[in-house]
Amino acid sequence: DLVPVRRALLSVSDKTGLVELGQALAARGVELLSTGGTAKALREAGLGVVDVAEVTGFPEMMDGRVKTLHPMVHGGLLALRDNPEHLAAMETHGIAGIDLLVVNLYPFEATVAKGADYAECVENIDIGGPAMIRAGAKNHAFVNVVVDTEDYAALLAELDANDGATSLAFRQQLAQTAYARTGAYDAAVSNWMAGAIGQDAPRRRVVAGSLAQTLRYGENPHQRAAFYLDGSDRPGVATAKQWQGKELSYNNINDTDAAFELVSEFLPADGPACAIIKHANPCGVARGASLEDAYRRAFDCDRTSAFGGIIALNMKLDEATARAICEIFTEVVIAPAADDAAKEVFAAKKNLRLLTTGGLANPAAAGMTIRQVSGGFLAQDKDNGRITADDLKVVTKKAPTEAEIADMLFAWTVGKHVKSNAIVYVKDGATVGVGAGQMSRVDSTRIAARKAQDMAEAVGLPGTPTKGSVVASDAFFPFPDGLLTAAEAGATAVIQPGGSMRDDEVIAAADEAGLAMVFTGMRHFRH
Ligand code: 5GP
Repeated sequence: DLVPVRRALLSVSDKTGLVELGQALAARGVELLSTGGTAKALREAGLGVVDVAEVTGFPEMMDGRVKTLHPMVHGGLLALRDNPEHLAAMETHGIAGIDLLVVNLYPFEATVAKGADYAECVENIDIGGPAMIRAGAKNHAFVNVVVDTEDYAALLAELDANDGATSLAFRQQLAQTAYARTGAYDAAVSNWMAGAIGQDAPRRRVVAGSLAQTLRYGENPHQRAAFYLDGSDRPGVATAKQWQGKELSYNNINDTDAAFELVSEFLPADGPACAIIKHANPCGVARGASLEDAYRRAFDCDRTSAFGGIIALNMKLDEATARAICEIFTEVVIAPAADDAAKEVFAAKKNLRLLTTGGLANPAAAGMTIRQVSGGFLAQDKDNGRITADDLKVVTKKAPTEAEIADMLFAWTVGKHVKSNAIVYVKDGATVGVGAGQMSRVDSTRIAARKAQDMAEAVGLPGTPTKGSVVASDAFFPFPDGLLTAAEAGATAVIQPGGSMRDDEVIAAADEAGLAMVFTGMRHFRH
């Protein structure tokens, strides 16, 4: 299965390493064909090159839209060298085989990333390149296709190991990489267009991304992992700048995303806010008079769990907040920005990662979430549902106070970011108890209150933290028991979607317990 490489076509936008590769191929007696800009670069380095235009008998035309789209090129890439009919066709039409194709595509993703206008993005959709890559890769029985400058060295090593030829296994690897590239390329084009024309239906989106980073490992050390970017410019962990600390792990990226998406719900205009995340669930979220105050109040919700957590802030990190954060061990801090004094404070903590995003993510923006199941993916609209006080329907005899309404909306918003069954107790703009991920709603209600009590006792705070709180439930209470547990814990007002068969029973129980309760008409499951 060794195939000698005698004739190569080079057509690259990214000219990195091109001259060195051309020289190395020429030194091994390989004939070089090339398109305009690539040929020019090779010639300037003193290499002999045949223009593709000479091979096709057509000039490159239409702004380069048509350069290599010709049977003299595609016949050379696709012909089976062991098929008599193919060989006869080559003979008849004077088509010579191309054994090596080196292509990297018009920089479509980079053009989008730099904010180019629509027409410029369209012009940067490479047509001839993917056509050649797909043709050569299909014919990997005979043809080598290199699409990544980082693979040049491996190609030369393979040629040296096989006296100027390559093995089938090597060509198969190249072909597999080649299709990954063309697949990701068209996905980038489609996803860019989706944004440009406002197409956000999950059934029309491509689930694909470009590899950003190979991670040390996945959720556990025996799992391999990688981080892919979908090309969107949403502020967040994928686009953030990291100022210090070692590389983020798989779990760090997941948790930092959860933290930043949550804190982005709280506009700076409404005051400072902080979220502390552990295992993708918040263990404390608070507003505060200052950012430091917001952090300290979030920390007070569950000081035990906050250790080694991920902290997200909705405003520029300042020195006082940085100092407060440094009082315990924290894995990651993510904020829209950080001032120099804060960065200096963190510099002493080598293991702490600081990320800045340049802004908050828009929680109302459309988007898609994807989850893998055995045999496929589930895609859905991002949960960008939001409510205001106007959406609340009071269902009890007692109406909530203004202060309770503010806390209920806060608790509701936090609850959207807690794994179901989610129960969140809030007092004065700070969570005092979070119950996450339980299989029964009544358990989440109990656990949140129990943890709050344990916390208070551990740090020597008198009284019951959930006394006088409001409680949010991400989905309806199917029975009165969960609601009554919250009332026992001291909650005075309840926010929940409503919509249960037994709403009447639950409302009657609330009235009896003297609670105020509102329905949102919206559910926030998060599994
Ligand atoms: P050069 O810099 O050599 O002039 O152009 C190299 C680029 O042209 C490569 O990125 C290659 O993928 C692309 N290319 C090659 N053939 C064609 C073609 O027929 N049409 C288009 N649109 N691009 C091509």
